[in-house]
Amino acid sequence: MRIALAGIVHETNTYCGSPTTYDDFYTYRGPKMLETSGQESDLGGAVDACQGLGVDIVPILYASTQPSGTIERDAYEAFKSEILTGLSEVGDVDGCVLLLHGAVVVSGLPDLEADLAREVRALLGDIPIAASFDLHGNVTQAMADQLNGVFACRQYPHIDLHTQAHAAVEHVHDMAQRGELASCEVIRLPLLLPTTTTFEGIGEVVLQRLRKLEADAGCVNLSWFHGFPYTDIPHAGSFVVMTSFANTLDAARSAASKFARELWDQREAFVPESLDGPAAIQRAQAATSYPVVIHETSDNCGGGTPGDGTHLLRAMLAAGLGGDACFSFLVDPEVASEAHSAGVGSQITVALGGKTDDLHGDPLMIEGYVKALHDGRLTMQHMFKGAPLNIGPMARLVVDGMDIVVASRRSQTFDREPFLAVGIDVMKYKYVALKSSNHFRAGFQHLASQIVTADTPGLTTHNIGIFPRQQTARPLWPMDPRATFPENLEHSEETR
Ligand SMILES: [Zn+2]
Repeated sequence: MRIALAGIVHETNTYCGSPTTYDDFYTYRGPKMLETSGQESDLGGAVDACQGLGVDIVPILYASTQPSGTIERDAYEAFKSEILTGLSEVGDVDGCVLLLHGAVVVSGLPDLEADLAREVRALLGDIPIAASFDLHGNVTQAMADQLNGVFACRQYPHIDLHTQAHAAVEHVHDMAQRGELASCEVIRLPLLLPTTTTFEGIGEVVLQRLRKLEADAGCVNLSWFHGFPYTDIPHAGSFVVMTSFANTLDAARSAASKFARELWDQREAFVPESLDGPAAIQRAQAATSYPVVIHETSDNCGGGTPGDGTHLLRAMLAAGLGGDACFSFLVDPEVASEAHSAGVGSQITVALGGKTDDLHGDPLMIEGYVKALHDGRLTMQHMFKGAPLNIGPMARLVVDGMDIVVASRRSQTFDREPFLAVGIDVMKYKYVALKSSNHFRAGFQHLASQIVTADTPGLTTHNIGIFPRQQTARPLWPMDPRATFPENLEHSEETR
């Protein structure tokens, strides 16, 4: 059996000032894609699944980049063309697995996934096609109509991207063997959710319920897309998607609408607390055991922010946390370069961070001692375990006794590696600060005595109601309290 693998993955924050270009993407082409075997990523999971099933992998193209602004049309058209040309040149395949995100916006095209799925379907015809997704996707029925399987990751942190891609491959394999195609249906809730972890609290409760309803229905998959709120497109929201063969269709529809209703009814529980920098530090200082991890959720490169915001760091320096605190990391290639030029043991005076826009804070004028340097080539140890991460030249600066790490390329902090690279053992500090919304939990939750969320001004703030919306369908909760549960589902609930 031959299964083709292809994907375009991006999380588009339409509020970012600059567009995302072709050159911003990294790519795996053809056989190079197989080198991701063993990595806990979507592509790695798909490759391993094919190899485990004894399937011949037909690798086409995988293109991805850090979350950022709207993708330029030419960039998408080039990647799409490469995928379609690749698929048309490899001869007959028995199935195809697409590795997608769900929240990609291209200039003039608010739903990349629907466009790509439609073209792939038109080319390949009536064969099994399924896709894996990030739970932050904003998905449409137009896309689901082209697919025979939708598999969103379930955990946030996304520690299961590889297992969901694995499941997508197994499902395609199963369909090809039995000669029957499953179908997918999407329920959109007029609801924007702030970024919510599934490791605890309401996110964990709702996920457990999803698993139970899916098991009871006996369908192929029930996916909950939290949705991505930092985007102004018509179909932004939160979504339930079911994948089912004909024999479980009624049960799957019933489970999906029941889950949608329960999610809707619990929406108030998703409204998070929002502490500014000084309030977050005050909360951390009330702790009696350590380390306390303070995460600046609002400057999360993983949601499209610059990563050079200074709000939390400024508050930490003002609070005089000194040697009790460390921060890794701010993205500032200029400062990292200056530290590398000056060398370990030297003293530099620089303007740190705050260089991308006005929202994330002004540059901080600091005098720092260059304690350690690193090339920034890391291997991820928790989420995306085994995958390489290159955050460019790094420097550990000591400012007023506090250890501050600077890197050169945008990324959130996923695990301890950006600390360890420059010799920082987080267990020796009272306060460990980083920039990430929830992925860091995979690498820190088991270490932290407490996690405190700092919601400073930033493009990934919990205050999702502040973003202007020209495109998004209204009403939409929580901005519009009059938003109601979809009428067609009310009806289907009554008739069951
Ligand atoms: Zn995500």
